[in-house]
Amino acid sequence: MGIFNIKEITGKNKKKLVNFRASLGEAVRLGKEIPFADKDINYSLQLQNERLREKGIDLESKIYIRDGDTDKFFSGRTWKDAHYESTMCYNGCGIKRVVKKNGKWRYTDNKKSVLYETVTDVVSGTHPDNDPVNCPNCGMVSTAAALQDGCSYCGTKFRMDDLFPKVSSYYFLDDAGMTKKEFLHGYLISYFITLILLYVLACFLRSDIYLPQNLIQNKSYLITTLIAMPLGSIPLGYILYGYFLFIRMIAKAIMSAGKMGTAGSRRSFESRMKKISPEFSYEYFTSKAISLIKTAIYSKNPQDLLFYTGKDLDPGMKDIIDLNYGGALGCKSFRDEGNMVRVVTKAYFDVLYADGDRIYSKSQVFSATFIRRTDLPVNLNFSMTRIQCPTCGSSFDATKNKNCPYCENPYEITTDDWALVELKYN
Ligand SMILES: [Zn+2]
Ligand SMILES: [Zn+2]
Repeated sequence: MGIFNIKEITGKNKKKLVNFRASLGEAVRLGKEIPFADKDINYSLQLQNERLREKGIDLESKIYIRDGDTDKFFSGRTWKDAHYESTMCYNGCGIKRVVKKNGKWRYTDNKKSVLYETVTDVVSGTHPDNDPVNCPNCGMVSTAAALQDGCSYCGTKFRMDDLFPKVSSYYFLDDAGMTKKEFLHGYLISYFITLILLYVLACFLRSDIYLPQNLIQNKSYLITTLIAMPLGSIPLGYILYGYFLFIRMIAKAIMSAGKMGTAGSRRSFESRMKKISPEFSYEYFTSKAISLIKTAIYSKNPQDLLFYTGKDLDPGMKDIIDLNYGGALGCKSFRDEGNMVRVVTKAYFDVLYADGDRIYSKSQVFSATFIRRTDLPVNLNFSMTRIQCPTCGSSFDATKNKNCPYCENPYEITTDDWALVELKYN
């Protein structure tokens, strides 16, 4: 359900969230699999790692705990279906990226960020023993029950705790918030500006009596200048700073409202989807869309991807080596077409490009169009790496075969999930 309550994450969920954060850098840089992350995440990370290696690039991203912050994760929205419950969790962190090409330094940035991770767990009391699950060791599709007896491909045995909870999606967002240190810093600047303004104003109003040469002769004015003005600037500087922060906040709100596209189309999209699946939320769709866009961009040949049915991507996208969600997935338009919905989104990303030896970061807007069937409920735990064949019921990894390896029937992504039908620069 769409319950919005903020609380600190503890226990096994926290352990996996913290481990995921610690493993992400190595996963991108060395292609190391993260065992408790969903296969779809690993698949996208693996494609990114291949892109880096192909270009001879070493991307070191270090995620660290910021000054005055803790490693605490807090929970945001949650959603669940019959078997699984997902919670969006977030943590304030810093992220430093260093890019080298063929051993030579090319680029560094260091950003204040918020890491969002979705953690998915089995709803307590339910036993999804026969639901398809990927083996955390070899990646083959199995079931929760079978993996507890030992994977039939690699033999590894798992406890339910190894399989769930798992991290099912993630993204970073630039942090617009302020730390105490930055707040103090801003206030100090505002204080000195106020002091100078006050002094200039006093000189102006009292016809130069406050000018330094006059103050030497007039001791009582000297005392006012040295004591009253600095003291008076403490609250006045605070008020000035408050106005500045308020204006900045309004400007940011206007900017992000512009990014969200038409509120009307987003609302009608959301309410249409809720009719198919009451658990549908725009947050869920956003993390899904981000993941599909990233996978398509990192892929060597997007047309080989199960979920991508569009044209060749713009060749410029082949130079993308890192993609961070830019905080908005706007809904441009939404249409009902027979038994399909078609939604056109405007997706904002901070993109790191490697064009030859030139590495640069750029804010980029993509236009991404998704379709989905409307006669079937949304499967919130869907993964293209563990698909249940609609013809024979066998489970397989559809990133490796588009046809069911057991009955040979072609598998159509729109049976279960979203298809990306167009991806271009906006
Ligand atoms: Zn296995
Ligand atoms: Zn089959």
